[in-house]
Amino acid sequence: MIYKQNLHTHTTYGDGKNTPEELVLEAINRGFSSIGFSEHSYMHFADFSSQLKVSDMPKYKSEIHALKEKYQDMIDIFCGLEYELFSEVPTNGLDYIIGSVHYLKFGEEILGFDVKLKETQDYINSNFGGDGMKFAKKYFETVATLPQHGNFDIVGHFDLVAKNNEKGHFFDINSKEYLNAGFEAIHALKGKIPLFEVNTGAIARGYRSTPYPQPEFLKEFKNCGFGAVITADCHNKDFLDCYFNEAAQLLQSVDFKTIWILTGNGFKEVSL
Ligand SMILES: [Zn+2]
Ligand SMILES: [Zn+2]
Repeated sequence: MIYKQNLHTHTTYGDGKNTPEELVLEAINRGFSSIGFSEHSYMHFADFSSQLKVSDMPKYKSEIHALKEKYQDMIDIFCGLEYELFSEVPTNGLDYIIGSVHYLKFGEEILGFDVKLKETQDYINSNFGGDGMKFAKKYFETVATLPQHGNFDIVGHFDLVAKNNEKGHFFDINSKEYLNAGFEAIHALKGKIPLFEVNTGAIARGYRSTPYPQPEFLKEFKNCGFGAVITADCHNKDFLDCYFNEAAQLLQSVDFKTIWILTGNGFKEVSL
C-alpha cells in the first residue's frame, strides 16, 4: 500500500493506551502520511471511562492542533470524533466524524451491546428473549438512522453486531434474513454518508480473525457507490496498521480499485 493512514484512533483521552503524541510518533515511524484521532463522543447515560468527556473537548482539540503544527513537516494530523448515535455533544471544529452504533434504545433505556461473549448472550436474553436475529435486526435498523443524527463522513464498523458471532453463536451471518437486514441499512445510508471503514480493530484485540464488514456487505457498499477507508480502530500503538495489507487485498477481491484518504484539502480518492 502506498498510502498509510489511520483515521480511527483512540488515546488516553478515552479508552486508548497511548497519548496522542505517542501515536503520532509511532505513525511517523511506520511511514504514515497521516493520522486522525477519533475519541468516543460523550454519552451521559454510559460508562465514562471509554469516552471523551465534554469538559476535555477543548483540551483534546488544542492538543491535537498543537501536534499538527509541531509535526507538520513529517505527517498530516487530523482531529475527529467517533460519534455515538445517542450522544448529544457539539461536533463543530472537527476535521471529520465517524458515525458508530454501540448502543441500542429500548423505550427510554439505552443499553450498550459492545461487550464480551458471555455478556452478549445475557444482552440477547434480557432484551430479545434469546433471539439473536432480533438483536441483529434491531442493530441494523438503528444503524440506518445514523444520518438523522448528524453529518458523518464515515460509517463506523458497519456490522459490529457480529463482533462475538464468528462461530455463529447468536445468528447466521450468511442467512438471507441477516444479509437483507444489513443491505437495508446500507441502502438507508446511501447518498447520506459517503464512506465506510474496513475496520481491523477486533483482530488486534483478539475478538475476530476478519475485519468488518463481511464481504457480502463490502460488495453492497461497492454497488451503492460508497468509498472505502481502511482503519485500525487503534487502542494501542503496537497495532496502528494491524492487518492493513490484508484489508486492502480484501477490498481488491470485491473489486474496489481505490480507497479514500483525508488530506488538508478534504477526502481524496487514491488507487489501492
Ligand atoms: Zn466503535
Ligand atoms: Zn473506535
